[in-house]
Amino acid sequence: MSKIRVEYIWTDGHLPTAKLRSKTKIVDGPVKDVSELPEWGFDGSSTEQAEGHFSDCLLKPVRLALDPIRGGDNLLVMCEVFNADGTVHASNARAALRELAEKHADQEAWFGIEQEYTFFDGIKPLGWPDNGFPAPQGGYYCGVGSDEVYGRDIVEDHMESCILAGIEMSGINAEVMPGQWEFQIGPVGPLDVADEVWLARWLLYRIGEDYGVSATLHPKPVKGDWNGAGAHTNFSTKAMREPGGLAVIEEACKKLGKTHEKHIVQYGAHNEERLTGLHETCSMQDFKYGISDRGASIRIPMQTANDGFGYLEDRRPSANMDPYKVCAALMETVCADELVPA
Ligand code: ADP
Ligand code: MN
Ligand code: MN
Ligand code: MN
Repeated sequence: MSKIRVEYIWTDGHLPTAKLRSKTKIVDGPVKDVSELPEWGFDGSSTEQAEGHFSDCLLKPVRLALDPIRGGDNLLVMCEVFNADGTVHASNARAALRELAEKHADQEAWFGIEQEYTFFDGIKPLGWPDNGFPAPQGGYYCGVGSDEVYGRDIVEDHMESCILAGIEMSGINAEVMPGQWEFQIGPVGPLDVADEVWLARWLLYRIGEDYGVSATLHPKPVKGDWNGAGAHTNFSTKAMREPGGLAVIEEACKKLGKTHEKHIVQYGAHNEERLTGLHETCSMQDFKYGISDRGASIRIPMQTANDGFGYLEDRRPSANMDPYKVCAALMETVCADELVPA
């Protein structure tokens, strides 16, 4: 038996966008299953999760990952937050997704999330000149070369760390705005994808510390004629992935058209700055779906249309969305037999 360090990670009560928090517990290792880890507490008055006079909140470990930074048997663990009396804390969005995932387990929902983000060096995007702007967008997306991409060493480090942690990362790419990048998680089930997006975000911020670079998930980090940052959420059920699935996907798009407003409020703050109808987005006021249409709210990928089955891409979620809420909204609308009224 030897001592290991376990980083307990949770989302706080910050509004309108929850932030990540973490602290380290030293326990006897090795630990193989999340059930072996003790619950823990924290001061909720410092995380906008409690008032000062009654401030203890409970951390319940729910999802283990290897710690690629400390290495060895050290671990990262995603936690859910509970009140001192054992009830689900108001900031705990995972609990609702947990229930939906269980209720609709028979539909075998899969999610793939494309997380866009922007590196900042102090107050300006990484690689941008001290005065003025870089050359207009056009050559940066999937670019190569020191005049096109900024921060690749951090991106490579982050990607390797996610793989070592056991996160189902499926790729990365440089984005349309210089200093902006994307990583993809999935396709995996709802709780896995959401836990892993949060863990990958935590690793991105933590690795950024070593480079003196921060990463922001703001949906419109630079105003004007620069692309915003989203978190396209790709989604399928077993029926969508089987022959004849295209009809099931179109049925889902119709349901999503009826619940647009209900979804948008769950899809991230300041998203109206990004969903303008420009820069490969559909206006927030409208709902459209279409095959291969990057100006639609929901895109049915070309491959899916050609095969007649596959998945849909919800392009509305912003980069700073909470994946627990976005996955829950999609399951609530698409997996239920009856539409849940707004
Ligand atoms: P694009 O940039 O063209 O929109 P990406 O390649 O960045 O697409 O992302 C596509 C995402 O779709 C990946 O995260 C992948 O995991 C996910 N995906 C692939 N197949 C499915 C599926 N059947 N169900 C849900 N997600 C899927
Ligand atoms: Mn992508
Ligand atoms: Mn992208
Ligand atoms: Mn996409």
